[in-house]
Amino acid sequence: MKSEFEFIETIRRRYSLSKIGDDCAVIPKNLKKDLVITTDLLVEEIDFRLDWTTPEFLGHKALAVSLSDVAAMGAKPAWAMLSIGVPQKIWKTDFVEKFYDGYMRLAKKFQVEIIGGDVSKTPDKIVIDSIVAGEVKKGKAVLRSGAKSGDLIFVTGRLGGAAGGLILLESGIRYDSNDKIRRKNLLLKQLKPSPKISDGEFLRENNLATSMIDLSDGLSGDLAHICRESKVGAKIYADKIPFHKNLFQSANLFEEKLDLALNGGEDFELLFTLSPKKYFQAENGFKKRRFFQVGEISANLQIIELIAKGKSQILQPKGFRHF
Ligand code: ADP
Ligand code: MG
Repeated sequence: MKSEFEFIETIRRRYSLSKIGDDCAVIPKNLKKDLVITTDLLVEEIDFRLDWTTPEFLGHKALAVSLSDVAAMGAKPAWAMLSIGVPQKIWKTDFVEKFYDGYMRLAKKFQVEIIGGDVSKTPDKIVIDSIVAGEVKKGKAVLRSGAKSGDLIFVTGRLGGAAGGLILLESGIRYDSNDKIRRKNLLLKQLKPSPKISDGEFLRENNLATSMIDLSDGLSGDLAHICRESKVGAKIYADKIPFHKNLFQSANLFEEKLDLALNGGEDFELLFTLSPKKYFQAENGFKKRRFFQVGEISANLQIIELIAKGKSQILQPKGFRHF
């Protein structure tokens, strides 16, 4: 059966859709700026579960996932549209008001203006479509396609936390503000992600990144997107992967943590590449921001190698897919 990525690739080629394939589409705005725009669909029981989250967290996440795509272009978010389809039984409650409370709190934080949306009714489950647009200096959006052999691969934060949170939810644990901090941290990473807008803008303003993507499907899958678009390969070092600090109690084996960090999705950190020369220039700024190098780009077309204990193996992308 075809995956959604194969389907998108097919329509992209069949109809020559040149603006498809990155975290956002880039459209000329004026002589100085480009517009970036992205949309994300969240479907109840598929992308979220009502008994795992709260309406406020869900509103936050609906905006956060799209902000993360804007961050991945190195752009500044500015406008948003939100469409919701809700069944009667939910409409009768205060769900949508609370959902907007969570959504609007995050919008305010990043000074994003809501410019419209749509409301409809569904037979049974909630459907949310979140659109965010932003601005970036003309011709300067950071694409997935700019990675070069020899570039270093970095991530903007620790990995596997959202997948750790998902394991807790699957085991029946729910978010409780009085709970232990380590459990809350993992659950919040999954339920209330922080888009890395400032990191994306920092990298773009200083012309550092040659390519960038946000980690929504998992490192292995999202790095594969960079490799495909940039026509390169990559090497990842297992002992350089920064595990989320609170994973240590919930996944004890190194291999288990590595699996969550490589293949667990929704950390919403940024993955970017840059030349060694730029890295030496920016080293101090990097230390302050706690970026982690996890590997380097190779000329080995679309092959991702995982180096663990001195041995190399091919890393198959196992990121999240719906189909
Ligand atoms: P992300 O994980 O960053 O949100 P996706 O994997 O959802 O990105 O999408 C990859 C690319 O394919 C994006 O450029 C997106 O706009 C495009 N895309 C996804 N679904 C469709 C669709 N149904 N029709 C056209 N383009 C699509
Ligand atoms: Mg993305």
